[in-house]
Amino acid sequence: MIRFQYERAADVADAVRRMAAGPAAKFIAGGTNLIDLMREDVERPARLIDISRLPLTAVEETPAGGLMIGALVPNSDLAYHPLVERRYPVLSSAILAGASQQLRNMASTGGNLLQRTRCGYFYDTVMPCNKRAPGSGCAALHGFNRMHAILGASESCIATHPSDMCVALAMLEAKVHVTGPAGERTIPFADFHRLPGDTPERDTNLDPGEMVTAVELPTQGFAAHHSYLKIRDRLSYAFALVSVAVGMELEGDRIAHARFALGGVAHKPWRDPEAEASLAGRTADETAFGEAADLLLRDAKGHGHNDFKIGLARRAIVRALTQAAQGTPQIQSRKQIR
Ligand SMILES: Cc1cc2nc3c(=O)[nH]c(=O)nc-3n(C[C@H](O)[C@H](O)[C@H](O)COP(=O)(O)OP(=O)(O)OC[C@H]3O[C@@H](n4cnc5c(N)ncnc54)[C@H](O)[C@@H]3O)c2cc1C
Ligand code: SF4
Repeated sequence: MIRFQYERAADVADAVRRMAAGPAAKFIAGGTNLIDLMREDVERPARLIDISRLPLTAVEETPAGGLMIGALVPNSDLAYHPLVERRYPVLSSAILAGASQQLRNMASTGGNLLQRTRCGYFYDTVMPCNKRAPGSGCAALHGFNRMHAILGASESCIATHPSDMCVALAMLEAKVHVTGPAGERTIPFADFHRLPGDTPERDTNLDPGEMVTAVELPTQGFAAHHSYLKIRDRLSYAFALVSVAVGMELEGDRIAHARFALGGVAHKPWRDPEAEASLAGRTADETAFGEAADLLLRDAKGHGHNDFKIGLARRAIVRALTQAAQGTPQIQSRKQIR
């Protein structure tokens, strides 16, 4: 039996105050990740600050023409929101590619950003794991690492970030709004998650006690030319081996502007500005897409069991870019996801 104290926050300021009041506290929103981690003895918070009833559940248009998504908007509500379906379909598609309907009903926008890796050794408390127990080693490095990173890894940790939603948010260049003891600030999505380096215990650049309050989308949603392609072991209820979120603008058959982010390959959603820039002005064809994929994967490195991911990622990038260019996105249909 793990003993912990349960507190319910009255508002955001109260949540931040309670978090700052004592050590080893954690926010809890939908609980779909944190409770599992507590059951497995991976996380042992002395206090749980329940933020699930805070009024952060709105999806509203911003004066700049974007969208502000409250941190407690459930993943299902966000995926099916008419403005998201119409203007940011790649986000709907990415969310619906993740977990199950029941989990998406419980999971929150903020919690999805903060979910922890699915590395099996992180969950197995008898194994060395620098992320769970800094300095203990990394069992995955020479262990079973089929799901692990091929880009941006370190000798300390080769885990991947498991979120689908975050891959679309990275491609869309969302911003994360946070409130903490030092006040409010906004973090560009590219700077929110971290690479492992020699501090893999830190997943994000949140400062101690900071809480995510909202995620802001810019105007550009790539509604006409987008795709979210997720390659996994089962059609549903499985984390990505590789996923690709694409947004593209075309002028005739030429690419005016393209972005693509990868999931399942690194400690954070992975983008490569050079690979994206290489597509500008090119004819939207397999040659250009293959060359962009090769650029993005130029430093990719397997660790044995996951070597296959490099070729898989190349094929997935080419396919997702082709789908976006043709306006035939990979659809996570409502029928398929139920
Ligand atoms: C079986 C299973 C399969 C899954 N499959 C997928 C999948 O394929 N793709 C995918 O993307 N996800 C998948 N998920 C993960 C799921 O999307 C996450 O568990 C969920 O998004 C977490 O949201 P939550 O609100 O439940 O977070 P919680 O479990 O409540 O919290 C998670 C973490 O976030 C912190 N936190 C929560 N809200 C905030 C906030 N506002 N500010 C600061 N910190 C906060 C908590 O302290 C905790 O550390 C799966 C989960 C399960 C259990
Ligand atoms: S890959 Fe990272 S999370 Fe997995 S065992 Fe190594 S240090 Fe831990």
